[in-house]
Amino acid sequence: MPQTLIATKPRILYIDDDPLNRSLVNRVLTRYDFEVIEAETGLEGIKIATKEIPDLILMDINMPGLDGHETTTRMRTIAGLQRTPIVAITAYATKGDRELALTVGCDGYINKPIDVDKFPYQIVNYLEGQKDTISKDEQQHYLGQYSKKLVERLEAKIIELEDANARLQKIDKLKSDFITVASHELRTPMTLVYGYARLLQSAIKESDETETTEKHVVNLVKKIYKSVYRLNEVVNDVLNVFLIEASSMQLQHQRVNLGKVINSALNELNPNKNNRSLNITLKDFEELPEIIGDAERLKQVFWNLLSNAIKFTPDHGTITIEGRVTKAKSDQLFSSQTGGEVIITIKDTGIGIDSSDRKDIFERFYMVENTAYHSSSKTAFGGGGIGLGLPIAKGIIEAHGGRIWAESAGYNDKQDPGSIFYVLLPIHTD
Ligand code: ADP
Repeated sequence: MPQTLIATKPRILYIDDDPLNRSLVNRVLTRYDFEVIEAETGLEGIKIATKEIPDLILMDINMPGLDGHETTTRMRTIAGLQRTPIVAITAYATKGDRELALTVGCDGYINKPIDVDKFPYQIVNYLEGQKDTISKDEQQHYLGQYSKKLVERLEAKIIELEDANARLQKIDKLKSDFITVASHELRTPMTLVYGYARLLQSAIKESDETETTEKHVVNLVKKIYKSVYRLNEVVNDVLNVFLIEASSMQLQHQRVNLGKVINSALNELNPNKNNRSLNITLKDFEELPEIIGDAERLKQVFWNLLSNAIKFTPDHGTITIEGRVTKAKSDQLFSSQTGGEVIITIKDTGIGIDSSDRKDIFERFYMVENTAYHSSSKTAFGGGGIGLGLPIAKGIIEAHGGRIWAESAGYNDKQDPGSIFYVLLPIHTD
């Protein structure tokens, strides 16, 4: 049975971000027949106070978002709350805290930790009209200090908002660029499928069952297959990137010979067959130990990295792929794994990457080029993809417990400073 200190069951709004404090105060006050309403933030407190008009407000000072001072100042401008007793309650009892609380509109000040026995009586005093005061001079002094703090906070918030806005605009641009490029990537093979299918239709119609017609038909079917294959690749890239986002990538663990994996990706890309003249060398892979990983996924990583190196290196340039075992712990690049790590570097003598883009290229949909000049070749110099190759590579490498990053002296398509991509993989993922 609660002990009643005051006849009309007073309603107290307690604003504090700490749930433990709220529950303690709630317990102490309900024991004395107070009704306690809780709020977790200054903004929530203002909303509840405006609606409920409590008999007294207990205000924690140090809160994230609007702090207790700011919440009090705001409440004092709301009709209905101008006379409501507001009592500051705070752990910090440094000089000036009490004065500042009174200056911003509080009627009193109670230190934390609260004295459980005295606390309900202190509240009753404030409910019955106790008002702590400070001199006019002091008030003037603290008002100046408070205005300065408010302006500084406002400035910091504006900077924060501007940054957030710039980030949002960048993401928005990335998304619309992605839609432009993805539709281009899908439309190109689609147009080909459509064209070849029409030709196939007329070839069959006019068929006189000669060998030439048969050859022609086979050739058209091959081209249709190639375009559909490409369509499938683009769709898979998009699906893969969403899989990475949901971090639900399932790896098929097995022993992997990275030299073989890289060779197989290189054979598929076969840039020299596609009229590119590049000097591509694979170094030191015989010595490299096998690792435990998903060979198919890792091939995809190196396929993406090599395709980029080929696309962004002009003819007669060099691409060097090297593998070595790192000195594990002493390298301090990735210290949590056991069993050591291998590091693969893919170095090209291409156009390089601007320092401002070097981290962002691993973000989804990020492409350095202007979408207006987009071309979708995998191996032609300057060809572009849909900006998903590196994010997919990053997702796969991270799923293996590894890291991927790039270095480059900068972007220059006249002097070709080149880029180096690093892939660090633990030998065992356990
Ligand atoms: P895309 O599919 O468009 O190639 P990626 O995610 O693979 O997308 O690469 C993102 C961007 O990073 C590329 O558009 C390119 O501007 C830059 N990039 C990647 N690799 C290289 C490289 N080896 N040399 C220069 N730029 C590169």
